[in-house]
Amino acid sequence: MRNPIIVGNWKMNLLLEEATHLALSLVRELDGIEAGEVVICPPYTSLSEVSKRISGSSIRLGAQNMHWEDRGAYTGEISPQFLLDIGCQYVIIGHSERRQQFGETGEVVNRKAKSAVSKGIIPIVCVGETLFERKEGKTEEVVRRGVEASLKGISREEIVKVVIAYEPVWAIGTGNTASPEDANAVHRLIRQVLTHLYDEEVAQEVRIQYGGSVTPENIEGIMKEPEIDGALVGGASIQSGSFVKIIKTAMKARSRK
Ligand code: PEP
Repeated sequence: MRNPIIVGNWKMNLLLEEATHLALSLVRELDGIEAGEVVICPPYTSLSEVSKRISGSSIRLGAQNMHWEDRGAYTGEISPQFLLDIGCQYVIIGHSERRQQFGETGEVVNRKAKSAVSKGIIPIVCVGETLFERKEGKTEEVVRRGVEASLKGISREEIVKVVIAYEPVWAIGTGNTASPEDANAVHRLIRQVLTHLYDEEVAQEVRIQYGGSVTPENIEGIMKEPEIDGALVGGASIQSGSFVKIIKTAMKARSRK
């Protein structure tokens, strides 16, 4: 049975005080709740303080990006070592905003994902099609290529730790979501790709989550789908009320699967 995982991507939101306030509120609200895995990904500037606030709770810390090298002349970058140093266990890799706005290619995403797993950080690798690609009927091809390119060179032992996030680009921050059935079909496709790249056992073990305008209202339907193991939540994760509701509803739906 795959452990459900809900990840909050705070993006470039929340100043230090707001971030620590939200972290404390989540610790309080989720205390004692059987919640699978909950990961929050604040901006770099508040990672360290948030790390202290969630210490001792079941909430885990993630970053939104990282460089693949450990140190060196990479002005403005943050390495896996730095993330481990402050208690990060997860890192989002290849978010569509990084691919589209910062030119991250499949090769860059692959380097980062490989570096993360080799250092013991769990990469949450994002793949998904644009609206144009969907309209052209290219969803399968784009997702298949995205998964294959991202995972190149990742061993069988490493892949089972990786989390894959299926995030249709047209659904991110737009209020449009893939229907649970459509999302489930793409998750199934990703498991087929994993079977092809590794084997059936790996395909059944790797966690795949959905991302794209997840809300307290639509999470139940998403989590009821058999291939979906969780959600990557953007906008609705920067308010304690909506994020806690998503987590609680997700875990309840999951336990009924
Ligand atoms: C995201 O940032 O990965 C995301 C899915 O954002 P939103 O939930 O706001 O669509």
